[in-house]
Amino acid sequence: MNKLYYIETFGCQMNVHESEKIAGILVNLGYAETSDRAQANIIVFNTCCIRDTAEKKIFGNIGELKILKKIDKSRIIVIVGCMTQQDGMAEVIATKFPFVDIILGTSNIHLLKEKIEELELRRQRKRGKIISIDNTEKPEVIENVTPYRTSYPNAWVNIMYGCNNFCAYCIVPYVRGRERSREPELIIEEVRSLVKAGYKEITLLGQNVDSYGSDRTDGANFYTLLTKLKEIEGKFRLRFMTSHPKDLSEEVIKLIAETPNFCNNIHLPVQAGSNAVLKAMNRKYDRERYFYLIDTIRKYMPDCGITSDIMVGFPGETEEDFQDTLDLVRRVQYHNAFTFIYSPRKGTVAAKMEQIPYAIKKDRISRLIALQNQITLTLSEAFVGKVKEVLVEDAPKENLLCGRTDCGRLVNFSGDKSLIGQFVNVRIDKNKASALWGEIVNE
Ligand code: SF4
Repeated sequence: MNKLYYIETFGCQMNVHESEKIAGILVNLGYAETSDRAQANIIVFNTCCIRDTAEKKIFGNIGELKILKKIDKSRIIVIVGCMTQQDGMAEVIATKFPFVDIILGTSNIHLLKEKIEELELRRQRKRGKIISIDNTEKPEVIENVTPYRTSYPNAWVNIMYGCNNFCAYCIVPYVRGRERSREPELIIEEVRSLVKAGYKEITLLGQNVDSYGSDRTDGANFYTLLTKLKEIEGKFRLRFMTSHPKDLSEEVIKLIAETPNFCNNIHLPVQAGSNAVLKAMNRKYDRERYFYLIDTIRKYMPDCGITSDIMVGFPGETEEDFQDTLDLVRRVQYHNAFTFIYSPRKGTVAAKMEQIPYAIKKDRISRLIALQNQITLTLSEAFVGKVKEVLVEDAPKENLLCGRTDCGRLVNFSGDKSLIGQFVNVRIDKNKASALWGEIVNE
């Protein structure tokens, strides 16, 4: 019988894709996946430290593994990801949870196979756990790990790692190092082979995709990469995340608009609508630049699905600053926005600033959510009665399918799960609970 692995992933899409790489290593070692962690011979937690709450939740989850380790001492427990990469955190995990066997940093996931083998030898000699963290600013880009993909018809492709931006609230540059771009040829080949294998939606991943290539000497940049990806033949969609308002260019927007395979959808996190707050956040753009980008996107793609991340309660944010955010949201009319309350992250610049009371943050987030919900509702109503091409992505229930339009809207409709991976035309009949509902039509 196969040995079994269980992976629990916390955090962003980058982590979800990294878990696919971890799964690839384990499948190569002869493990098969289980969704029951009590049955697993190896349990991997791929962690996130973007917020304090995420960290607390992960600590709670690791604690729960103690009993499973007690039942089966041969079980291997592995902790990887952003949390382990914070200063001193690997040692904290090792002390607090002595039953953990292997702790790997964000740049050392590719070492998992050799660390599992090393652990077997150490166990024979009754030696302790393994900690492997790479603290260099620009760790090497590792290319020899093949992901085990379970998300058909969607596939994720890293184009770069790390971030140079040091937004005042964000821990990412500290735990993922500086920007490292992959070779353009390797990215193009990966996308080409995914399309050939039948994947229908490819999402390029990077903390700031627009600065792709800035660390390279061959002149490659995000625009030149997209021009080469444009040449790949076949019916598929290409998305990317995340764009940074300081770097997104008109030539990239124009290229997206001209290329049928590139989705009519841009996620452009604004974070705040006030220039004073944007400056304090070290975002390196102002609201005027942001409005210029929105106007440019709408000039080339009038019905582009624009989405955003918006934070309230950043240190120093006044009611007037917050009103600027509400004003920006009203003017931009986002299809959707991920809204959240700022919470201090130890190790970042903003954590040392004077914080504003939680009650104020809570009041602001409710007002922001109410406004965005109203906008999403109005924009969704405009879809009703229209026919949209939808990529069938999943079948959450018998005879119920769901998928997304090119502009990123979720649509539910009835149909057989054999349609997963196909493009169908759906007439939108109603807008209910943040999703669109419709019927497949032959148009
Ligand atoms: S661009 Fe800013 S928010 Fe995004 S990962 Fe880099 S530092 Fe964090």
